[in-house]
Amino acid sequence: MDSTELAPFQDKLSSALVQVTRTVGQLSSEDLNFHRTSSADFAESLDQQSERILALTSAVLKAATVGTDVDAPALDTEESLEDNWRGVVDVIDSLLEKADACLDEFTGVIKKLSPSQEEQAPVVKKAPYFPTIYDYGPSKIPKPQLLFDHKPDNADFGPFHPLLKTKPHATVALEKSLEQQQLNGAAAHPHPYETEIRNAQYPQSVYQTCPPINFLPFEDTTATFVDTMDGVKEMLEELKQAKEIAIDLEHHDVHSYHGLVSLMQISTRNKDWVVDTLKPWREELQILNEVFADPKILKVLHGSTMDIIWLQRDLGLYVIGMFDTFHAASALGYPKKSLKYLLKKFVDFEADKRYQMADWRVRPLPSAMFDYARSDTHYLLYVYDCLRNELIEASTPEESLIDYVQERSKNEALQRYERPVYDAEKGQGPGGWYDLLSRNAGMLSKEQFAVFKAVHQWRDEVARAEDEGWQCVFPKHVLFKLAQAMPLDMGTLLRTLSPMTPLTKDRAADLLAIIKEAKIAGATGPEWRDFAPPPKAPANMAEPDMDHVDFPIAERYETSQFWGDVLEAQELSAPVSYSTAASLEALRLSLPLPPMPTTVSQAREKLGVSANTETTSAPKAAPVPASAPEEPKYFTVKDLGGPRKRKVAAAVTPDQEVSTPDSLVESINEPDSTEKQRKKSRKEKKAKKATQSGSQSEADSTPFDYGAAESILNVPVASAMRPQPKRTFNPYAKALEAPSGARKQKRDDAGKSMTFRK
Ligand code: AMP
Ligand code: MN
Ligand code: ZN
Repeated sequence: MDSTELAPFQDKLSSALVQVTRTVGQLSSEDLNFHRTSSADFAESLDQQSERILALTSAVLKAATVGTDVDAPALDTEESLEDNWRGVVDVIDSLLEKADACLDEFTGVIKKLSPSQEEQAPVVKKAPYFPTIYDYGPSKIPKPQLLFDHKPDNADFGPFHPLLKTKPHATVALEKSLEQQQLNGAAAHPHPYETEIRNAQYPQSVYQTCPPINFLPFEDTTATFVDTMDGVKEMLEELKQAKEIAIDLEHHDVHSYHGLVSLMQISTRNKDWVVDTLKPWREELQILNEVFADPKILKVLHGSTMDIIWLQRDLGLYVIGMFDTFHAASALGYPKKSLKYLLKKFVDFEADKRYQMADWRVRPLPSAMFDYARSDTHYLLYVYDCLRNELIEASTPEESLIDYVQERSKNEALQRYERPVYDAEKGQGPGGWYDLLSRNAGMLSKEQFAVFKAVHQWRDEVARAEDEGWQCVFPKHVLFKLAQAMPLDMGTLLRTLSPMTPLTKDRAADLLAIIKEAKIAGATGPEWRDFAPPPKAPANMAEPDMDHVDFPIAERYETSQFWGDVLEAQELSAPVSYSTAASLEALRLSLPLPPMPTTVSQAREKLGVSANTETTSAPKAAPVPASAPEEPKYFTVKDLGGPRKRKVAAAVTPDQEVSTPDSLVESINEPDSTEKQRKKSRKEKKAKKATQSGSQSEADSTPFDYGAAESILNVPVASAMRPQPKRTFNPYAKALEAPSGARKQKRDDAGKSMTFRK
C-alpha cells in the first residue's frame, strides 16, 4: 500500500470500527436473555454469533502474533476471555509497538534493524503497570486511614468541624470564625476564612502583562517527595519566598467511605514537590496555611472545585488568592478547558490522563505515577502566565477578565465541606436513593420500592462500617436486581448477587433478613410514584433541574465522571459475569480516552451547577466574551455508550442527542495520549539502539501489504462453526409485531427497564 491509499483505508477502517462499536453498544443495552427466552431461533442465532465472534477474535489474535514471541490466547468460551484478557492486552500492545516501529522507519527516525538484531530485540515492552481503582476484588493495599492520628468516623452525622487549629492571615479571629450557626436550617460551622476570602485582592502583578517565564525542562529537574514533617517545613520556607505557586491533589475514594487526599503536588517556578498526604500526621499539613491563606502569594489551581473540598476536609487547608486556570480558559472562550488541553496548547505536553484512574494510595509511588503527578503542576505557572496575558489583553476598561477569574476562584474557595448524611426517609443527597431511582426506577411495586430503599440503606451502612466505597459492597445495578427479584431464600439471593463481593458474602444472612422485612413492611408502605419527580415539560428540558442536582457537598460520584455510566450500561446485561468485567477492563486499557471533561469540576461546570449557591452570588462583573461558544448544560458519555437512552438523556440538548460517536472517530484518528507518551520513550530507546547498532540494511524492509492480504474474517475456523443463516436476524421482529404494551410485561431486572427502545 502506498501512502496515497492510506487515507481512504483509514476512513474505511474508522467507519467500520464506529459501526462495530455502535452495534456493540446497541447489543449490550438490550436484554438479550429476555429475547433468548422468547425465541428459539434467536437463541440459536445468538449462540452461533457468539461462537463466530470468539473464533474470529482468536483468529485475529493469532494472525497478529505470527512470528513474534507473544502467545495469542485461545478464546474458545466466554470465560476464556476472562481468564486471558491480559493476554489480549499484550497482543494489542505488541501491535501498537509494531505500528510505532513502522512509523519510525517510515519517517526515517530509525533504520530497520537487520533480521538477526530484530530477533534479539524484545518485541513486547509492557506499559508500566500501575494499580487502578478498577482492579477488582478487595484492595491489596492496606488501608492507610487505619494509621491516621484522626481516624475517620463514618458514623458521625454531626456538622463537620473545620480542622483548623490556628488561623494564619486572619482578619477575623479563629474562635469567632468557628462559631456554630444555623445554615440552611441546620447547625453548621461557617467557612472559617469566609471574610478573608471575600476581602482579598489579587496582587498587582496579576494585572500586569509580562513575558511568560519559561518552565524548567521536566527531564532536567527532579521533584522532592515529602513524607516527613521536617520535609514539609523545609518546603514551607521555600514556598514563602515565592510570588506564585501551583497546587494539585490526587484523591482516592474506592476503598474509603468519604475519600482520601492521597497526594498533594506543589510547584514553584523552579521546584516541584509531591507531598504524601496519607501519613498519620496529615492534619499537621495545615501549617501550610501560612502560604495557602496568604493573599500575597498567588495559588494557581486548575479546576479547583473538588480540591477545595478535599483540602479542608482532610488537611484543614484553605486557599486565599486563588487563580483557577479553568475559569481563565472559560473567560477566554476556549473550545476546551481541561488541563490536558491547556498543556497541549501552551506547552505541547501530552498529559496522560489515564493516571486519573490510578490507585493513588500505592507506596512507594511508581516513578511513572510520580512523574504524572508532578506534571500536573510543573507547567501550571507558565500556563498561568500565558492565560494572564491573554486575559489582560481581552479585558476592557469596563470589564476586567482578571476580576472575573478572581470572582469565580473566590466562589470555589468559599465552598464549605459538609458530611453527607444518610436520609433514609426521603433519600435526598448525593448518596441517597432518590436520585438513583428517579433516573432508573421503571416500574416498581410497593414491595420492590421498599426493598430498594432498605437494601440501599444497608449498602450505605456496610460501606460506612467497613470504610469502603459503596461499589465495594455491590454496584448500583445489583440494587436494582435485588429490588426486582426480592429474593426470600439464600439460594436466590446468592444467584441475584452473583458475582458476589467479599463484603456481601460475609453478610448475606443479614441482607436476606433485611429484604424479607422490607418486603412485608412494603406491602402497606408508600408507592414510588408518590415520590417520583413529575415528568418534565419539554420547554424545561435543557434547564438543569436544580432540585435534583445536589452537588455542593457531593465529594463522591458513584460512576466515574470520565467514563460516566458507559461501563454500567454493559453491566446491566444479565447475568453479569467476570468475563464481562474482564472485557470491560481490557476495553478500558486499550481504548483511547474520549475527549471528556478531565476533572470532576469540569463535569460539574458542564452540568451548569454553581457549587457555591449558598454562600455567594454570581459575580457582577462576570463578562462572558461574545466569542465564547455556548456550553451545553449537560453532558453524557454517550460516545461510547451507543444509543442507550436513559431518563437523564431527556435533559440533553438536541444537538447532543443526535451525536454520533464523533469523539470515538476522533480518538481513533488521534493516537491516545498515553500511547504517544509511551511512544516517545520507546522512540528514544529505539533511537538509542539504532545509534548503537550503526546503520542497518534497508533491503528486507518490504512492508506487509494489508490491502492485498487475504482476509481472515471469513476463513473457516473452528469446526464448531455452523453455516450462517441467510436471513439476517432482527431481534426486534417479535417485539415489533406484538401489540404495544405487551413488551414491558415481565422483566427480571428493574435496572434494565430503561434500556428498552421506545
Ligand atoms: P486531577 O485534578 O485531574 O489530577 O484529578 C484529581 C483526582 O480527581 C484524581 O486523583 C481522581 O481521584 C479524581 N478524578 C479526576 N478525574 C477523574 C475521572 N475522570 N474519573 C474518576 N476520577 C477522577
Ligand atoms: Mn486537580
Ligand atoms: Zn492531578
